[in-house]
Amino acid sequence: MRIPLIAGNWKMNMNHESGKDLVRKISNKVSASDTEVVVCCPFPMLLEIGKCLSDSSIMLGAQNMHWENSGAFTGEISADMLLELGVKYVIIGHSERRQIFLETNHMINLKVKKALERQIVPILCVGELLNERETQQTERVLRDQLENSLVNITTQEASKIVIAYEPVWAIGTGKTATPEQAAETIGFIRGWLKEKYGETLSEKVRILYGGSVKPDNISEIMESPNIDGALVGGASLNDEDFINIIHFQH
Ligand code: PEP
Repeated sequence: MRIPLIAGNWKMNMNHESGKDLVRKISNKVSASDTEVVVCCPFPMLLEIGKCLSDSSIMLGAQNMHWENSGAFTGEISADMLLELGVKYVIIGHSERRQIFLETNHMINLKVKKALERQIVPILCVGELLNERETQQTERVLRDQLENSLVNITTQEASKIVIAYEPVWAIGTGKTATPEQAAETIGFIRGWLKEKYGETLSEKVRILYGGSVKPDNISEIMESPNIDGALVGGASLNDEDFINIIHFQH
């Protein structure tokens, strides 16, 4: 049985006051239930947001990390620094990091390995561009991203990973993949996991959908038994929207 997961990605939004206000409102309405909830806030807010969540079942997440333990990497944050702040999850390889900050699958692979080594759960993001979908390259692109991001990751390590399928054309655009597209593509990812790591592992790994998830489309997206939750950007900045997404099945 895979536990559903709803993760909010604040990106470079909010400040200490608005962030604390938001998580207080969310944690008042979200009790420990059968859905895990993660809030991935910007680095400078991790300490304060973590304190606000200390009595809550909601977990703290980061949006990125470096793969080295320490050293001359100006502007970067290590896994150990995140651990000190109580971080349990980290988004790795978000399409904005791939596109704007030119992260490669190799860098993403190193980050996934380091997060696993330090027992932070990586939420590995994969997804195709619009022209790749339109030219029937989605599966090739995803296979390439998965193979190269998971080099030298053992079956035992892979069982801890969360994968987020985020079609790049659906992120922040208001365009959601149809439930059929999401189900089909996430089915492909689960099939790839089965090929690479075997059936037991492929049934263990949680795969999320991300891309313009809102309260009014979460139920249809979650209809596919292969989809275990959502990575939510814009709608995670609004308490009512995020709470309604978390409570979609009730
Ligand atoms: C995201 O940031 O991962 C995301 C899916 O954003 P949005 O929900 O705003 O499309």
